Amino acid sequence: MNSTNDTFIRAELISFARDPGDGDKPEPGSLEHYGDGLLWLKGQHIHAIGHFAELSPSLPKGADVLNYRDKLIMPGFIDTHVHYVQLDIMASYGRQLLDWLNDYTFPEECRFADHAHAETLSNAFLDEMLRAGTTTAQVFGSSHPGAMDAFFNACQKRRLRMLAGKVLMDRNAPDALLDGATGIADSERLIEDWHGNGRLGYSLTPRFAPTSTKKQMDAAGALLRNDPTLWLQTHLAENSGELDWVADLFPGSRDYLAVYEEAGLVGPRSTFAHGIHLDNGMRKRLADRGANIAFALALIFSWAAAYLTEKRPNRPAWHLPLPAISAQVPTYRASERLKQRTKWAS
Ligand SMILES: [Zn+2]
Repeated sequence: MNSTNDTFIRAELISFARDPGDGDKPEPGSLEHYGDGLLWLKGQHIHAIGHFAELSPSLPKGADVLNYRDKLIMPGFIDTHVHYVQLDIMASYGRQLLDWLNDYTFPEECRFADHAHAETLSNAFLDEMLRAGTTTAQVFGSSHPGAMDAFFNACQKRRLRMLAGKVLMDRNAPDALLDGATGIADSERLIEDWHGNGRLGYSLTPRFAPTSTKKQMDAAGALLRNDPTLWLQTHLAENSGELDWVADLFPGSRDYLAVYEEAGLVGPRSTFAHGIHLDNGMRKRLADRGANIAFALALIFSWAAAYLTEKRPNRPAWHLPLPAISAQVPTYRASERLKQRTKWAS
């Protein structure tokens, strides 16, 4: 019989003690593995973890040990780039980024002006994340501040560690999604309410350079300078059409990354999604500032699938690695949801 506070689980365990480094194999001491391990919880916190043979003598007499010896238990996955507001359109067919935005993303995000819809999708998104084993993420919302309140509330109820932000977007999108002069003030209000509230953090979220004016990006940079505990997330160099568009919109900037540098958005708490078309100069500048790139494998699979189904006589034989990442699981589930919706609509 255990005290009501204690839980003992016997299973194969993996734990991460520190940064595994950049090599092919984790640095010694960074990955802890217990083939026959014991996880000892007191309330909702880990009290001890180790080899069953070593820890078991210290268990209270008559401890009731849950047996999961045929299972692997490990810390939750972390998704560094995901849009909760795109749950219902994930895995939709899109030839190019800009088609994807116009055909799917923007119409879908307009629905998040409705608070009840934002609440429903926040809960569905978090349920899918948890079902896939993802317990922490950096999350884009829509441009509606209320949709972020709904999301943060849903996270708070589950006591999750999440970074998230309202999309800043004051041009080149449907009027219903543009935040204009209120975007920065709404972000400040959300920061006040949610940043550091429980396990939540705020990530400033200009969607990407084409949909924010220089003025809006500069204002986001000022917020970052004023509070070094904030994070920043945006997109960078996902496809070549986007690169051309940025060059047209910002003729005075030497390249795409410079647009963000000039606004003060590039630093160790900044995450740039995709970063596919970067030259070595941009890669080095990102590394020098300690900034981060988030690769979205699910998205690459979706577009690669579209690419591979096109008839091309000289198509190169691609080998796509398929690591077991959690992000794929919600993608496939969302694809099913989409199919169902399409069925209902037809
Ligand atoms: Zn994205």
